Amino acid sequence: MIKKLNDYKIKNLTHISPSQYHSAISCPYKLVLANSFGYQSLLPLNANAHCGSIIHKMIELISKGVINDEQTFTENWTDLVNKKEEELKQKGLASITPLKYFVTDFALKKNQIKNILRKKQEKIRSSLDTSSNKFYSEKRLENSDKSIIGIADLIIENDSGTTILDFKTGKIYSDAIDESGISEQVVKKEYEIQLKLYAHLYFLMNGKYPKALFIVSLSNDFIEVEFKNTDCEIIYSEVLNFLATTNSFITKNDIKSIAKPSTENCRYCSYRPACGFYSNWLTTNFEEVHDLFGTIEKVNQFSNDTLGLQIKTLGKQILINGFTKEKKGDFESLIGKNVIFYNLKKTRQSLNATANNFTIVYE
Ligand code: SF4
Repeated sequence: MIKKLNDYKIKNLTHISPSQYHSAISCPYKLVLANSFGYQSLLPLNANAHCGSIIHKMIELISKGVINDEQTFTENWTDLVNKKEEELKQKGLASITPLKYFVTDFALKKNQIKNILRKKQEKIRSSLDTSSNKFYSEKRLENSDKSIIGIADLIIENDSGTTILDFKTGKIYSDAIDESGISEQVVKKEYEIQLKLYAHLYFLMNGKYPKALFIVSLSNDFIEVEFKNTDCEIIYSEVLNFLATTNSFITKNDIKSIAKPSTENCRYCSYRPACGFYSNWLTTNFEEVHDLFGTIEKVNQFSNDTLGLQIKTLGKQILINGFTKEKKGDFESLIGKNVIFYNLKKTRQSLNATANNFTIVYE
């Protein structure tokens, strides 16, 4: 796919969500660009990410009791997968459908969700008095000036208090070293921060903190995030401070101070095509990532109906194979122009690369 960037305007941030904050600390410009593009990703998400939204919805439906047996499980699963595949086809991503062939461990993930269904009754109901439970899914939590707004996946209220749950489909833990030097697994910082912010927003709206915070994961079911009320308040103040500081840099037009290009920060940033700081960084670090810049010199069509592009990068000839022949005219019109290729398959041994379903070229 060949794309051109639309005009965009850098604007002050009017709000931030608890799920955005942790990633925005490492590069605030990522959030600023996301805001400028209406939070529409400039690069395609992979099949696993698309499946993540299906899994997320399934766990929500299980927690709410909409899915309560094998039959409702199958009906909802089939319906969600079909709808997602239809959506992908409409977005020109038919090449990653059917999802079962492109999502890592698709069948395993489906079974893990079934396990959540099986264990759900004893897990939630043993920890809560279910007789008076009220379930609120996708519940909006916000402060009074709406500068911090989040959507909690599920809130359960009953006579003994409130429980906030958030569903996660990826890895929940990261490694940490405790005081005695022993490595231990801890809940990822970003998830902990997100839930503590939900707790404080809940407090601001209801005058009381929840009694428990849980992450619901595919493999570990329900993981409690311990918290103190003061922790939640401190994180909340930090987020307000982050917003004010970021906006002051935007107002001073000092964007350089909030852009932090690095392999770790940029690797999964969906706004790389709009980030001039990344483009500059890429010129000396292109071997670290799956993107490549250069001038298109020649377009070759092979006997297997694929295309190979000959590009020049820093004086070196590089070949990029794997494009479909339908793009021949489009690429020929770019001969002599500088472009950046995103999401290529590269090897350590050679600069040459291969395009795949997620490769996008921005001119
Ligand atoms: S590409 Fe890198 S530097 Fe640019 S906004 Fe994204 S994370 Fe920040």
